[in-house]
Amino acid sequence: MKNLEIAAIFYAMADILELQNVQWKPIAYRKAARSIETLSEPIEEVYKRGGINALMEIPGIGEAIAKKTEEYLLTGRVAEYERLKKKIPKGLREIMELQGLGPKKAIRLYKELKIDSIDALEKAAREGKIAKLEGFKEKSEKNILKSIEMIKKGKERIMLGVALPIAREIVQELKNVKGVKRIEIAGSVRRMVETIGDIDILAEIEGHSKEVMDRFVALQGVTNILAKGEKKSMVMIRKGKYDIQVDLRIIESNSFGAALQYFTGNKEHNIELRKLAIAKGMKLNEYGLFKGDKQIAGKEEREVYSKLGMEWIPPELRENKGEIQAAMINKLPELVELSQIKGDLHVHTDWSEGTASIEEMANAAKKIGYEYIGISDHSKSERIANGLDEKRIEQQIEAINEIRRKVKGIKILHGSEVSILPDGSLDYGDDILKRLDYVIAAVHSRFKSSKEEMTKRITKALENKYVKILAHPTGRLINERMPYEVDLDRIFEICRDRRIAMEINSFPLRLDLNDVYVRKARDYGTMLCINTDSHAIDHLGYMEYGIAVARRGWCERKNILNCMGHEDLMKWLE
Ligand SMILES: [Zn+2]
Ligand SMILES: [Zn+2]
Repeated sequence: MKNLEIAAIFYAMADILELQNVQWKPIAYRKAARSIETLSEPIEEVYKRGGINALMEIPGIGEAIAKKTEEYLLTGRVAEYERLKKKIPKGLREIMELQGLGPKKAIRLYKELKIDSIDALEKAAREGKIAKLEGFKEKSEKNILKSIEMIKKGKERIMLGVALPIAREIVQELKNVKGVKRIEIAGSVRRMVETIGDIDILAEIEGHSKEVMDRFVALQGVTNILAKGEKKSMVMIRKGKYDIQVDLRIIESNSFGAALQYFTGNKEHNIELRKLAIAKGMKLNEYGLFKGDKQIAGKEEREVYSKLGMEWIPPELRENKGEIQAAMINKLPELVELSQIKGDLHVHTDWSEGTASIEEMANAAKKIGYEYIGISDHSKSERIANGLDEKRIEQQIEAINEIRRKVKGIKILHGSEVSILPDGSLDYGDDILKRLDYVIAAVHSRFKSSKEEMTKRITKALENKYVKILAHPTGRLINERMPYEVDLDRIFEICRDRRIAMEINSFPLRLDLNDVYVRKARDYGTMLCINTDSHAIDHLGYMEYGIAVARRGWCERKNILNCMGHEDLMKWLE
């Protein structure tokens, strides 16, 4: 899959062009990069299917960018990028990517203080040199240091939406090597944690491991072989702008379950299990569960849990946050599953910033097997996203009525992602809102308000009786934007009392609410709704990540609004 590599090139081109004061182009390149990065289908497949024209169907990709994409797919490079790259120092690009700084200020720091690396920037900020520049304040200095900290953390941890496909691709590739009997993803990827440090893979081999190890260190994208042995190899893999370490361990058949348990973690969960084993006069390690010298479990993971006196615990729950105690008395939640989702209620179309038509989206949802799909384009104040003004949403009402007659076998609901304006009012009047099946309210601006202001703003919006879902409730973007400050406990209560669902936004960059808040919401008795916020047909597949967040938050089917069938949903929306 070359998506991330191509996206990285376009991000870089945007930055360099900005440095050269080129107008508009940087925005276009960034939009294209974001789009390609979050495409769940390999871009080479898109190209194979329909060449340049198919590429141009991806959101944000026009002819010029489609041609550069083609050039990369055919030649492995983009000539214009090679030309541009020669024009800037290396460290400067990293500085331009810092949150709260941006290319323009980065360039000034470069010109006025000769800052050309993150380290130099950190030093200057610590010494108070930046605050002295015109247009910079002490606060910007603090923000810079905070962003540097985030970048350093972000370097270590990669979005699940990036890591999981990489892990699966590797497993798929190694599965076919001769002698591989069993191969599993372990670690934080198996627990579906929102960001991933490294990828752990375990394999059971018949015969010698040489062949699989040879293939492993020669995988596409390997930039560095950290270790290569008979039992364990470690490599660094680069996918676009991401570098990730992947470890492969060879495990004996009768220890495979114990090793899978051990290497899945997390650490606190494992410590607790080991303590429990000791208390029962046993010993637990990566080779098995032992009584004296005798192994009493180890081949299968389920055995290990059962011999310790508890139900098998789904990996998503393994955090030592009560799951062990619950498993011992058979009180684990029956976690929600992807197959229980009946529809997606947050989906954009080509009426705002999506790429597919309403009809295409509806047909794609039908193909997944959904009972319903909720079309929810942006409201009028989202000008960059081509939000719909009153006239266009009237037209959309007509259009959807038309499509309902044409597309059978799936219910099409008409909603809208209505922006919450800074004063807490909604972007449309009630005369429009009442004509929709449901309203999703969302904050898209002024993220830096105080906690009180933001809480007041959202609270006011939730008082509108047509609001049924609160989208991406904290506004965070993983590794890019911190959540805004808001009194979530208050919001959980209001949503519960007013029967408003809080969204688990499954878009890989968002995962908002996160697992911790989801569990809290569930404990409050607040309804949740897992949506993809799709901007293209293949984004509908992101549902899997939202399900992971819900499972990590201990949610069952009954906690999730869109596990309801169409009839029950309509009653709930009434
Ligand atoms: Zn939104
Ligand atoms: Zn949206």
